[in-house]
Amino acid sequence: MKFFQPAYTDDCWLGKATEYTVREGYDWLRSSSPSVSWWRLCWNSMNIPKSSFIYWVFMLKRLLTKDRLVRMGGGTDVTCDLCQTANESHEHLFFDCYFSNRCSILLQQKLGFQINPSALIDWNRRGRRKSILMRRVTTACYVQLVYMIWQERNRARIHSQVTHPVAVVRQVIKAVHTRFQMRNKSKLTKEEEAWIMQMTR
Ligand SMILES: [Zn+2]
Repeated sequence: MKFFQPAYTDDCWLGKATEYTVREGYDWLRSSSPSVSWWRLCWNSMNIPKSSFIYWVFMLKRLLTKDRLVRMGGGTDVTCDLCQTANESHEHLFFDCYFSNRCSILLQQKLGFQINPSALIDWNRRGRRKSILMRRVTTACYVQLVYMIWQERNRARIHSQVTHPVAVVRQVIKAVHTRFQMRNKSKLTKEEEAWIMQMTR
């Protein structure tokens, strides 16, 4: 219950003489939490659940990248296994690294529009010209891409193998498209239908 510790003053809940109630606790927690505008990206119905979890950790910048590992005393090698030309950090891996940057560019070509992957929340908020469905599929693709980059990073580290960015993006699209076919219940507009078709070509 350490979440609630700051709400206790002199051993009293919110400094009052009354007892703590679940309702008050919930309201306090909600109002004191930072606005987590990215939860929509994480729990979008088009996301593959295991990717959502990695994306959540990614948004918290808690993936155990080599720079963090070294700071925690868990090694000395910080070289990025995907490009071998820079140190591995959260910022490098997403999306300064040549490998991840290439994947992002190829994904944008498939989607048919430009997105700054580091500003996906803003894009989702401002991208009103795209339908809800198109925004959901697009953000699911990026959530899946983050998951895939993290998988590729682990594969490179353990097996010294890296999948070609073209194949990574193909897998991203395939995974999201399968999920889309399973989850989408609404009738597509002509524009949406054409967009999905060109993306999966
Ligand atoms: Zn790199």
